[in-house]
Amino acid sequence: SRRWPGDTERLARMSLIKEGTDQQVRMAYLAIVASYSVNGVAKLHTSLLQKGLFRDFYEMWPDKFNNKTNGVTPRRWIASCNPGLADLITATIGDGWLTHLDRLENLAPYADDSDFRQRWWQIKRNAKQCLIDFQKQQHDIELSLDALFDVQVKRIHEYKRQLLNVLHVIHLYDRIKRGDTENWTNRNVFIGGKAAPGYYIAKKTIKLINNVADVINNDPDVGDRLKLVFLKNYQVSAMEIICPGTDLSEQISTAGKEASGTGNMKFMMNGALTIGTLDGANIEIRDEVGPENFFLFGMTVDQLEAYRQHYDPLTVINEDPDLARVFELLDGGHFNRFEPGIFDGLIASLKSKQDPWMSIADFRSYVDTQKRVEAAYRDTEHWVRMSILNTAHSGKFSTDRTITEYNQDIWKLIPINMSDSHSG
Ligand SMILES: *Cc1c(COP(=O)(O)O)cnc(C)c1O
Repeated sequence: SRRWPGDTERLARMSLIKEGTDQQVRMAYLAIVASYSVNGVAKLHTSLLQKGLFRDFYEMWPDKFNNKTNGVTPRRWIASCNPGLADLITATIGDGWLTHLDRLENLAPYADDSDFRQRWWQIKRNAKQCLIDFQKQQHDIELSLDALFDVQVKRIHEYKRQLLNVLHVIHLYDRIKRGDTENWTNRNVFIGGKAAPGYYIAKKTIKLINNVADVINNDPDVGDRLKLVFLKNYQVSAMEIICPGTDLSEQISTAGKEASGTGNMKFMMNGALTIGTLDGANIEIRDEVGPENFFLFGMTVDQLEAYRQHYDPLTVINEDPDLARVFELLDGGHFNRFEPGIFDGLIASLKSKQDPWMSIADFRSYVDTQKRVEAAYRDTEHWVRMSILNTAHSGKFSTDRTITEYNQDIWKLIPINMSDSHSG
């Protein structure tokens, strides 16, 4: 009230207690008041907090707010989980990279070296074979090593849009059934993740993925062209096998909803290409690797905000024959022959004008971009080049960089020199 005299509305907005019949403590506001420093975990997230949720507090204490883009540790997510790749990197650029990850940049020129590309690709294929073997313990589905390994592993949540991925898989299945398979790229789609126990729609999403997988994997018309695997019990030890064996990393959240993501970074370090929206750390990944080595699709935060006002998914479905056929299959119970009605709620949520996650809005752009992915994958030399460049430009996403920034801007501790201290 001293800073903005008479601005009672602002006072009410910023109160730590939400007044009314049902009083509530605003925990996030309480945390801001009590904290020395407040940070978002990616540039977009920090900016959305400053402009949105915490706007009033940002206006009062701009210096309290800062960005610290997340990272992952290259000790676990390259050296330990992908020793073959780590050895090739060390043989090529020396051994300082593991603690100075920006030195991976020195790999970039080797993207033009066909011997190096061949060694790189062989390591990727070995890791893909390990992922096939891992999957065999769960399902015993026959998977081709030559197919594109397309992976979405993360907690099951509506904003992460596993359903958009499933719509694309059903679309590919529909193309195969219609004989529309010219210039086809074989694809193994892996989806994995846990649902919170009480999150009904997330549990239903897992059920849908498994039912669609049953139909596709047992249809002799489909063969090696398409396989869908739900990876059970997704956990860190599983990700250590999954990310080295991935060609395509699915980072397809509704723009503005994924604070950062860290799975996206693990995949990039291991030479996967990303198909993703302008969300969380995807934006910074694309900035680092260059737009030509990243498959961008979908609406931006601002476009979604404007479109939301007149979003009409039923019209979009009717005007897109591919999407209409996908919904004919879903509505007709093609994936739940003996379980009538079980997916009605899921289907209705996608068709709702109020759907906050707006999967239908991004379907056409997603499918078209997946077509570009397929063409790129058929040009193996070019694909491997892009794979190498993804690893080469992933240095920013080391936790060492994140922690150094925390220290410089927030903790202000004096680092100890390890080479002095451990000799005693
Ligand atoms: C990295 C990781 C995550 C985070 O994945 P996002 O795609 O960033 O949501 C979740 N679970 C496990 C087991 C992980 O290894």
